[in-house]
Amino acid sequence: MPDLKLPSRAEDFAEWYNQVVLRAELADYAPVRGCMIVRPYGWALWENITAALDRRFKATGHVNAAFPMFIPKSFIEKEKKHVEGFSPELAVVTIGGGEKLEEPLVVRPTSETIIGHAYAKWIQSYRDLPVLINLWNSVVRWELRTKLFLRTLEFYWQEGHTAHATYEEAEAETRQMVDVYTDFAATEAAIPVIPGRKSEGEKFAGADVTYSLEAMMGDGKALQFCTSHNLGQNFAKAFEIRYLDQTGQLQYCWTTSWGLSTRVVGAIIMVHGDDQGLIFPPRLAPFQVVIVPIYKTDEEKALVFETARKIRAELVAAGIRVKTDEREGASPGFKFNDWEMRGVPLRMEIGPKDVAKGAVMLARRDRPGREGKSPAAQQGLAATVAKALEEIQAALFQRALDFRKSLTFEPADYVEFKTAVEKGFAHAWWCGSSDCEAKIKNETKATMRCIPLEQPGGQGLCIYCGQPAKDKAIFAKAY
Ligand SMILES: [Zn+2]
Repeated sequence: MPDLKLPSRAEDFAEWYNQVVLRAELADYAPVRGCMIVRPYGWALWENITAALDRRFKATGHVNAAFPMFIPKSFIEKEKKHVEGFSPELAVVTIGGGEKLEEPLVVRPTSETIIGHAYAKWIQSYRDLPVLINLWNSVVRWELRTKLFLRTLEFYWQEGHTAHATYEEAEAETRQMVDVYTDFAATEAAIPVIPGRKSEGEKFAGADVTYSLEAMMGDGKALQFCTSHNLGQNFAKAFEIRYLDQTGQLQYCWTTSWGLSTRVVGAIIMVHGDDQGLIFPPRLAPFQVVIVPIYKTDEEKALVFETARKIRAELVAAGIRVKTDEREGASPGFKFNDWEMRGVPLRMEIGPKDVAKGAVMLARRDRPGREGKSPAAQQGLAATVAKALEEIQAALFQRALDFRKSLTFEPADYVEFKTAVEKGFAHAWWCGSSDCEAKIKNETKATMRCIPLEQPGGQGLCIYCGQPAKDKAIFAKAY
């Protein structure tokens, strides 16, 4: 096990990211360019993400189902904007079982079309509404510039698809999911996000309105955390999703879709990590606590291991995810560094002296060195650990929020704006014109991330053209 230092984040953020993902064994490259292999440690993180979201989806009345990976190519072509948006990145199957297929099949890039087909069959009357289904699956969008978790040809995600009787209900659903995701981001991932509307140019292919949650990464760039789309009647009209209303009139449904992907793993890495490696928020960490036994002689080893196993059992019984590092031939110092790099929020050291005193030593990952270390009694340890994990969770959120505030600027003019987007977010008045948006993108490489739902009110002058503007938007370079 080589113990090479990671590149510092200030020196090469991209290389720090690549190396930490590989060395922490979160994911690996696959033989097919653009694909990724998610390793058990990375998958455990994703499982905790899915569990935290799934709980929230079910609490808001949604149910899970599974839809096929193959979609008839003609389906994708039914919604005009959808096909324009997705055509360049489709994977198409033309041969099956050695025979040329009559109709090519698309590997799903997203499931709106096949959902539309099924909903048209299932929905007849207003009594069948709303339909609130979520899918956990993977989708394929052809992509050759691999960046593990952030940009891959196949990625894992969930896609929610709902159908409603009215526009108001569909909009309420779209916004409800924005709130669900915002709560997940803050509470579970310890990531402050800015919920807002996408511009016409950045919205989902086939949506009336796209909402996104934008987060600031550790290098000041933005990452779109997830999206929620009000699809209006676009897919309902393309797929004939209709219902008889209470007066016996045939009406088109209003549909929504919303999704969050394994990109969020990338966000967690980039928001919380430091030069030593990952820092996982306790609520999502695969292991919340790592126990490192410290001993020299065989007698000490027997004593320390016995205590470590007893403590582990108590913590596990209290619902805490614990790993005991019993590796032979690796020094405690090596193990400390290794688990620091892998982002375990709390380390517990147990040596012969601790056993004699009925104590352990705790070390917080978010506070390196002496500052984060404190002794704790073995008596009532599960409660002490649970409290420490909550404190770490809260501290990570606060640190991310302070960092975002420190790199969010209110530029007074376009010169200041250009400096702002080199460092972080520019929060600026925007007239709403796609022309200004495009020029800003060309000149600064910063994109309009979202028009935050929270607006200052009043009006100002567009940062680019100086025309009256009623919305302030977030501009940034983005992943
Ligand atoms: Zn303008």
